[in-house]
Amino acid sequence: CALNPKAKVSDACASYADLDALNTKLHPYVRNLANNTDFFSYYRLNLYNKKCPFWSDENGLCGNIACAVTTLEHEEDIPAIWRAEELSKLEGPKAQHPGRKQQRERQRPLLGELGEGVGESCVVEYDDECDERDYCVPEDESASAKGDYVSLAENPERFTGYAGEGAHQVWEAIYRENCFSRPSPPSEKSQAAGGLQAPLPGFSQNQAQAAMDFRQVMKAHDRQQARKSGVIEEALEPEDECLEKRVFYRVISGMHAAISTHLCADYLNQTTGQWGPNLQCYKERLHSHPERISNLYFNYAFVLRAVGKLRDYVHDYTFCTGDPAQDGKTKQMIRTLASAIPSGPKIFDERVMFQDHTEDGISLKEDFRNRFRNVSRIMDCVGCDKCRLWGKVQTNGFGTALKVLFEFGNADEGVERPLLRRTELVALINTLDKISSALKAVEDFRAMMEAELEGK
Ligand code: FAD
Repeated sequence: CALNPKAKVSDACASYADLDALNTKLHPYVRNLANNTDFFSYYRLNLYNKKCPFWSDENGLCGNIACAVTTLEHEEDIPAIWRAEELSKLEGPKAQHPGRKQQRERQRPLLGELGEGVGESCVVEYDDECDERDYCVPEDESASAKGDYVSLAENPERFTGYAGEGAHQVWEAIYRENCFSRPSPPSEKSQAAGGLQAPLPGFSQNQAQAAMDFRQVMKAHDRQQARKSGVIEEALEPEDECLEKRVFYRVISGMHAAISTHLCADYLNQTTGQWGPNLQCYKERLHSHPERISNLYFNYAFVLRAVGKLRDYVHDYTFCTGDPAQDGKTKQMIRTLASAIPSGPKIFDERVMFQDHTEDGISLKEDFRNRFRNVSRIMDCVGCDKCRLWGKVQTNGFGTALKVLFEFGNADEGVERPLLRRTELVALINTLDKISSALKAVEDFRAMMEAELEGK
């Protein structure tokens, strides 16, 4: 592979070797947290009742059994605190979720105001309205929302067979969000920032544009590939892109790379019916595109930095599953993980982003945020339930990482911190788990390639 382990991952502050070493150390903690705690392994989301807001998705549906998600049909399978009956009990005046205005007016809600022993994670979320600092369209956990509980541990991300036009249309729309059209005059701002925000009238016309933009992105990419001289940093040398736009692209491409890695690592051999790693799949989708692997490392640095930044925040967070012993253990586990992550900008330095505080600088951040929200909306267009589940979890995870990195400020700045919903925290840790497992899978694939070269 053309990656030089000692080279720094461009746009991050750590080398590939540093991140590999960190991942070897942290992977077991992340796995354990994501898979073995109730708090982090149950996710409630609206998986089936949201229509694709951008196009008719009926043709792109995946009928394979591997595309299906096992949802939790029986209330007794869900921790008591999140059952409908318990949730409705929380809706008394004592446990009202602080309104947007209240949230803005005070630093953090005092737990006492939410009711004795009730923390943010126990509180019903009433609406799916975005907080202005959200990078994602939130999942509504309230009892009245048409959501389903899913055990993430029991629905692993793997090969589903979802492919073809439907899948490509979704990726195209996602990459199209990367085509920032700036600087934009105020009258065009909402459109530029909104991208796919509203169901696009006459999307078919825009689809042609989307396909063109996508091809241009890919062409630029191929050019970069051709210029590549062995070291990935050169392949990613920016053309005329600013850091923020490059980061947007890298987050998406890294997420795409993680999905590809998982589907190659847990692949169904349709001849034998056996599940296992598919080396050819890895070679074609990842090994021959080292910049995709680089983006995977970039995402690891990015999300890890966000989790590290939560060290103090989780100290006061109530991990509400209704089992105090388990909740205490969960809190200890996430604090251990966050404390093991190098503090300060040693792996990723978010302070260098959005530094242009002219009006343009502020609107670049808005543009970035709106575009990321659109990516999360596009997930409702994914025609395979399992892929949609993990697509939603991961976009929410990246959205949460962005929120923590860019809206929490640093410890010494005294910035008012936005609240994190339970779904955001769960998505963040599960996204870290996905990237961390993908890096481990890449390591295994590399070993398989070496063994193949040595003729073993
Ligand atoms: P695709 O992966 O569809 O890629 C389309 C084009 O994008 C490629 O031709 C290439 O030019 C470019 N590209 C590919 N990777 C990258 C990258 N990392 N960075 C930049 N550009 C890239 N399938 C499963 O089996 N299991 C899943 O869990 C799953 N989850 C999915 C989740 C989402 C949100 C989506 C949209 C699709 C998912 N799929 C999943 C489908 C899968 O991602 C592929 O679309 C499918 O396997 C077809 O692959 P492909 O080789 O045609 O290229």
